Amino acid sequence: MKQNLLKELQLIVGKENVLSSREDLVCYSYDAAPLLVHSLPYGVVLPSSTEEVVNLLRLAKASGIKVVPRGAGTNLSGGTIPIKGGIIIQLTRMSHILEIDSDNLTATVEPGVITSTLQSAVEQVGLFYPPDPASANVSTLGGNVAECAGGLRGLKYGTTKDYVIGLETVLPSGEVMVTGGKTIKNRAGYDLTKLMVGSEGTLGIFTKITLRLLPLPETKRTLLIMYPNFQYAAESVSDIIAHRILPATLEFLDGVTINCVEAYTHIGLPQNAQAILLIEVDGSSWDTEWEAKKVAEICSRHQPLEAKLALTPSESTSLTLARRSALASLARVRPTTILEDVTVPPSKLMEIMSKINQIAKTHNIQVGIFGHAGDGNLHPTFLTDGRDEEEMKRVEAAITEVFEVTLKLGGTISGEHGIGLTKARFLPSQVKPSGLKVMKAIKEGFDPQNILNPGKIFTEYSP
Ligand SMILES: Cc1cc2nc3c(=O)[nH]c(=O)nc-3n(C[C@H](O)[C@H](O)[C@H](O)COP(=O)(O)OP(=O)(O)OC[C@H]3O[C@@H](n4cnc5c(N)ncnc54)[C@H](O)[C@@H]3O)c2cc1C
Repeated sequence: MKQNLLKELQLIVGKENVLSSREDLVCYSYDAAPLLVHSLPYGVVLPSSTEEVVNLLRLAKASGIKVVPRGAGTNLSGGTIPIKGGIIIQLTRMSHILEIDSDNLTATVEPGVITSTLQSAVEQVGLFYPPDPASANVSTLGGNVAECAGGLRGLKYGTTKDYVIGLETVLPSGEVMVTGGKTIKNRAGYDLTKLMVGSEGTLGIFTKITLRLLPLPETKRTLLIMYPNFQYAAESVSDIIAHRILPATLEFLDGVTINCVEAYTHIGLPQNAQAILLIEVDGSSWDTEWEAKKVAEICSRHQPLEAKLALTPSESTSLTLARRSALASLARVRPTTILEDVTVPPSKLMEIMSKINQIAKTHNIQVGIFGHAGDGNLHPTFLTDGRDEEEMKRVEAAITEVFEVTLKLGGTISGEHGIGLTKARFLPSQVKPSGLKVMKAIKEGFDPQNILNPGKIFTEYSP
C-alpha cells in the first residue's frame, strides 16, 4: 500500500518532490512545540502549484489517507505533528510573491512566502505589513494565516486576521474555494475568509493569500525601560494607555527572563532589573517624537532604574534584541521549554502575573514570563525536564491552574499560538458545549472524512 501510494504521489509532484527516507520522515515527526510525542508520516510531498495540491487532496480523499499541511513547522501547539500518520504537504516550494498592488494596497502571495520576506518587499515600495510574530524570519504566511499569528505589533495594528482579505483554499474534497478578494468591504454571505483564518490546517489548504497593506509609517522610535519590580512596569503600561497613546509595540520581560537574556546575549541589562518594557512608537516624524517624549516622561514617573532611547535604526535593532531573544534565552536553561500563551484583558496583567508566579512557587517549578503587555498576552515559559515524570506531573497541574485562573479573569487559553494538540483537552472549558458543537459541525461540514490534520483542536487525541 505504502509503495503504491508513494508512486501515486510521485506522479503528481515529481519523484524529487516526495521524501520517504527514514531520516527525512523523522524531521517531519515534530515541530516547535515541546511535546514528548513524535509521529512519523508515510511520506512528505512538496507541491509547487494549486493544481498539484488539488490532485494530492483528490488522491487523499479516494484513498482515505490523512493529510497534514505544513509551512516552516514553527508552531508551538503541535499543529503539524502527523499523529495519525498520513502525508505531510509541505508548502515551502510555493513561495512566490505574486503581486504587490500599490493602487489597492494589497499583496497576493503563495503560502510558502516567509513573513519577513513580504515585510521587506512591501517596505521597499513604502508599504507596511504589520503582523510581526517573533518568528517572522522563518515562519510562512500560510502558517501565519492558519494560526492567526499575532506578534509584537498587536496592540496598535491587530493580528493576521485583520489583514487577510482574500484566500484561495483547496478543500478536503479537492475543490478550490475562492473567498474575499481585494476589496476592503465584502458582505456576500458568511465571512468564510475569516473562518479560515486560525483554522489550523483542519478545514482546507491555502494556496493563495491576499493581504491588506498600510502605508509605511514615516519613522519609529524605540525605548527600553528597566524597573526594579514588575508592578512599576505594569503601572507604566496602564498610564501610557490612560494617556491615550497606543504604541506599536509594548512588550515586557520579567526578572527571570531578563537574567536568561543577559546570560545569553551580554547586552548589558542591569542585574537588579526585575521587569523591562520594550516600547516602540511609530507614525509621522512629528507625532513619533512627541509620543516618544511623552512615553519616556510617563515611564519616568514609575521609578525606573534606567531608560534607553534608540537614536539610530541599528540601536533600535539592538534594543529589540532583548525581547526577540527571550524564548531562545529561556530555552537554554533546562532541557524542556514549555511556552504558554494565555491572554487576559490588559487591565488584569498585574493580577495574572502574580497568580502565575504563585502557582509556579506552589508546584516548585521555574517559570520565566514575557509577552505583549499592551494586549494582555503573556508567555509564561516553564523551564523543565521532560524526562522527569514527577516534575512533568507538577508542570501539568500548574498549567491547568494557569488556564483556570486565566478564564476566571475573563481571558483566553490561547492568544496567538492556537489549540493544536497541546490545548485540545482544555478547549471545552473555554468554549462550552454549545461552542464546541458548532465548531465540530463546521469541521464535519468541510471535512466529513476527517482527512485534514486529524486530532488537532478537538480531543480525539491527548498527548
Ligand atoms: C521562536 C518563536 C517565536 C514565535 N513567536 C510568535 C509570535 O510572536 N506570535 C505568534 O503568533 N506566533 C509565534 N510563534 C509561533 C509560530 O511561529 C506561528 O504560529 C507561525 O504562524 C507558524 O508558521 P509556520 O509557517 O511555521 O507554520 P507551521 O508550524 O508549519 O504550521 C502551523 C499550522 O498551520 C497549518 N498550515 C501551514 N501552512 C498551511 C497552509 N498553506 N494552509 C493551511 N494550513 C496550513 C499547519 O497544518 C499547522 O496547523 C513563534 C514560534 C517560535 C518558534
